[in-house]
Amino acid sequence: MSVVVVGLLVVATALLVQSQVESQECDRCSGAQGHEESGGSHMGTLRGPVRPSAALAPAQSLGLYTKIDAPTTSSTPTPVRRLLPTVTPLPMPTPDGTPRQLVIPILMYHHIAVAGPGADAIRRDLSVSPANFEGQLRYLVEHGYEPITLESLILHLQVGLSLPPKPVILTFDDGFKDHYTNAYPLLKRYGFSGTFFVISGFVDEGRPEHMSWSEIELLHANGMEIGSHTYTHPSLAGKSFDYIVWQVLGSKEAIEARTQEPVRFFSYPSGQYDQQVVDVLQSAGYWGAVTVESGSLQASERPFELKRIRVRGAYDLEDFDHWLNYWLANP
Ligand SMILES: [Zn+2]
Repeated sequence: MSVVVVGLLVVATALLVQSQVESQECDRCSGAQGHEESGGSHMGTLRGPVRPSAALAPAQSLGLYTKIDAPTTSSTPTPVRRLLPTVTPLPMPTPDGTPRQLVIPILMYHHIAVAGPGADAIRRDLSVSPANFEGQLRYLVEHGYEPITLESLILHLQVGLSLPPKPVILTFDDGFKDHYTNAYPLLKRYGFSGTFFVISGFVDEGRPEHMSWSEIELLHANGMEIGSHTYTHPSLAGKSFDYIVWQVLGSKEAIEARTQEPVRFFSYPSGQYDQQVVDVLQSAGYWGAVTVESGSLQASERPFELKRIRVRGAYDLEDFDHWLNYWLANP
């Protein structure tokens, strides 16, 4: 049953030429995360050793991806330590060497929806009602906040791009359908941009609770920033190098194939990561990543550890005001 599902052929070739990857059966799913989170099916694994000729010959179309029979031979894996650029490379400008810090709220949202009657505590906590969300947008406008993108933030930290006096960044994790139906119209009405971190494998599967590719494309065409939240939403901490490559590069390629724009930012599932994850993100051409660490102090030395302020479902406007200012005062 072994198959290898690799991103676009360009990158597939690049990776396969440069790397020989593990040959064990299903090591990614020890802990069952891959199976559970991807609805019981492999979206794919990088496995090998695979030479381009072996990899590309029996290719079978699988949407944008290519299904490839895994070879039966095995040898010592040689980890990839350098990744070729993605299809549309966009290197971050060389940092000018000036250490910079900025206190800026990066708000973290999940669902923008009223939690249904059967919703458990976690779902309720993750669900900000459209009415409350609109109140928060109005609050931000009335208090002089101006939306910027993560791209602008990184350009400020690394090369001194000037920013408005009270910048704010809105981020939305998990690519839920209600981001399109509820959040997006309100963002548009109030002139806000947002960064949406999507789970590309869930979009490929057409999960009804998640945005479709055409909805994601529409957000992007209307000025929203699209980031990656992996392929199948596992925790990446402690995972093998090849598994991390597949999750962060595979999802990046899938999004870029639709938006035709480089994906520059990443959100760690469950906020979990280690140094190897950061190294792979950098090699894959990401500019930065957001965590779930509470705070608002962002630093040029830590673009892959951007702090956020979680907006909880139970917050009324008073709570929102309180916690926003609390984390600005305790960055
Ligand atoms: Zn998530």
